[in-house]
Amino acid sequence: MTEEPFRTEEDREFGFETRQLHAGQRPDPNTGARAVPIFQTTSYVFEDPESAAAYFNLQEYGNTYSRIMNPTVAVFEERVANLEGGMGAVAFSSGIAAQAAALFTLLQPGDHVVSSGALYGGTVNQFKHLLRKMNVALTWVDPDDPEAWRAAVRPETKAFFAETIGNPSGNVLDIETVATIAHEHRIPLLVDNTFATPYLCRPIDWGADIVIHSATKFIGGHGTSIGGVVVEAGTFDWSNGRFPVIADPSPAYHGLRFHETFGTYGYLMKLRAETLRDLGGALSPFNAFLFLQGLETLSLRMERHVSNALAVASFLRDHELASNVTYPGLPDSRYRPLVEKYLPRGAGAVFSFDCAGGRTGGQDLIRGVTLWSHLANVGDAKSLIIHPASTTHRQLGDEELRAAGVAPGTVRLSVGTESIDDLIWDLRQGFAKVAASDGRA
Ligand SMILES: *Cc1c(COP(=O)(O)O)cnc(C)c1O
Repeated sequence: MTEEPFRTEEDREFGFETRQLHAGQRPDPNTGARAVPIFQTTSYVFEDPESAAAYFNLQEYGNTYSRIMNPTVAVFEERVANLEGGMGAVAFSSGIAAQAAALFTLLQPGDHVVSSGALYGGTVNQFKHLLRKMNVALTWVDPDDPEAWRAAVRPETKAFFAETIGNPSGNVLDIETVATIAHEHRIPLLVDNTFATPYLCRPIDWGADIVIHSATKFIGGHGTSIGGVVVEAGTFDWSNGRFPVIADPSPAYHGLRFHETFGTYGYLMKLRAETLRDLGGALSPFNAFLFLQGLETLSLRMERHVSNALAVASFLRDHELASNVTYPGLPDSRYRPLVEKYLPRGAGAVFSFDCAGGRTGGQDLIRGVTLWSHLANVGDAKSLIIHPASTTHRQLGDEELRAAGVAPGTVRLSVGTESIDDLIWDLRQGFAKVAASDGRA
């Protein structure tokens, strides 16, 4: 794969590490500020009535109100779009808001979505309940089975949805195969690339049409801010007959035909000018600034995240009190061929394993560690640990847990960028506590 070109006057193609620092920004022409300024403003003074009218008619592209666009947020959007190899992006106040808006823009009541069943828990809730309220039907499929995707397609299917690296068993999506099946049926493939980041995988290179991130995780990278972003490849034919909601005159924008009028930007324009305008989940300029800070070091952090994750996973695989280590980057993972194809730089840093001693074992491990933080998040530079049976899945009995793909002793890790010896030392402390109550000490 060659990197997407970011052309300058000299027509040079810059590398990922250069683009994560520079794409979408030049030093501020008014002040010379090198850092991206935080434009903490709700609104913008129009030059004259004519240009104001042109902005509101979408005849010219200009700032009107920060619910719809903001110069700090725009740098973040352009930078993520550049890193993902997309046509453009729209940022949102959370990853969940980004997903809702991405789907809302292309769905109508009566439509149908096919989704991988191996998803982040918040997304499962969102799809189960929100889609039903919108009168949109949903079919869960095993993401590893291409025939299941094909068999689920109906005449009213409008989207395929999956994660690059799925939750909780580390499924790696065969993006090219699933995208091909989607396109045979004139359906777009939406990929949540949160766990991989564009440094480890760029789904658009493999045929994905829309890429979604919770920027809250590795993009921000420091556990400080909630945000999300939707990137579109700009290659999907929204006038293929399946998407009157984008191709036909829009009653929500005085009869505008988004795809005919804006071509490759049609979906993104509708996403911003209608969906963001009406749902209102806008990213704040301050959070966009923090995400830009995160992006500047994305490649450097991801290199350390994946090398630490591989070391921790290898330690656990060989530990007598750990089993079922789901890290797809382990050499004996069943996802090895897909990791080599789609994630050659590493398979992310989030995975789970089963701790001996069941529910009590998992709790003892959490009590025994001091450096790993016990909390519900992933993608922080600091290492994180959580025991689903006593937190996120607390209300479930052992049988129900198993049905959700979680064992009583399952522990989820998000491996940070600390010194690897300290992370292993701390897990040894945790296992000593497990062994003590297990009578194995
Ligand atoms: C966190 C997360 C989300 C939701 O994002 P928020 O920013 O928490 O709204 C969606 N998908 C994945 C894979 C996530 O990790």
